[in-house]
Amino acid sequence: MDYSRQIMLPQIGLKGQRVLEKATAAVIGAGAIGGLAAELLCRSGVGKLRVIERDIVEESNLHRQTLYYARDIGQSKAHVAKARLSEANPDVQVEAAAIDLNNTNAHLIKADIVLDCTDNMETRYLINDYCRKERIRWVYSAAIKETGTVFPISPGGPCLACAIPGAEGLETCDTSGVLPAITAATACIQAAEAIKLLLGITSNEMVRYDIWNNDFARLKVRSNPNCPACNGSYDYLSGAKGSRTTKLCGSGTYQLSGGKISMRQLKQVPGARILEYGVILPNATVFSDGRAVIKAGSERQARAIYARITG
Ligand SMILES: [Zn+2]
Repeated sequence: MDYSRQIMLPQIGLKGQRVLEKATAAVIGAGAIGGLAAELLCRSGVGKLRVIERDIVEESNLHRQTLYYARDIGQSKAHVAKARLSEANPDVQVEAAAIDLNNTNAHLIKADIVLDCTDNMETRYLINDYCRKERIRWVYSAAIKETGTVFPISPGGPCLACAIPGAEGLETCDTSGVLPAITAATACIQAAEAIKLLLGITSNEMVRYDIWNNDFARLKVRSNPNCPACNGSYDYLSGAKGSRTTKLCGSGTYQLSGGKISMRQLKQVPGARILEYGVILPNATVFSDGRAVIKAGSERQARAIYARITG
């Protein structure tokens, strides 16, 4: 890959480019923000990328999630992202982790830079705990309706729990909607902040952008002396806080796990499509580790389908 156009910039230079090439980035969530932020880091030449995403591509994603096309519906976002990113820049090593990130597999967060592109506060507090404990730089991002927020976090500075304490159960894109232009703008700001952090440029500023009214705000965040995470109390990482029950990923989509899967049997289901990481059935995507993302009208119906899948 030819990086001459960015090496030309004095703030990057050849030295900065080498730093990027040696870095590993974990992108958590490969939706509208994560997909584009990962693409920008990939094209910038960040050496290794780990894409962590539990979901599958749905039709309602396509208006804003630029890594995916209609032909990808039903497939694992992490794996489609890996294929697209590897094609965009073959010099970058891309790893797909189609898992539900929680405190039992939090080691997958480990990287030189972490991008939070999730859609829920619970996972964000888990990332905050892990990155505080391991002293990892990371960038929070969120977008809803027409407003995006980005917050670069570095060890020693204020953390997410300092900035936004106790914010579980806030509104999501599923309930409030989101403008594709703001998720893209948020991803761009986040990717730039990630590159700055990798190059050692820190800030304690949260950026908020309202793309409909062209309001751009820079908010100074202060450390909270009573912040649990900053005082070494990692409640989300220890499992004291946060739930691991069935989660509603999108409208009418349920995630279930814990059952035994016979891949050989599933491959015989009429209409089954076999992929390297699992099987796509007419109403479910089943991963080889037993996790299934199921389209259903209710949780009860989803459980019934899962029971059939797991025999
Ligand atoms: Zn804190």
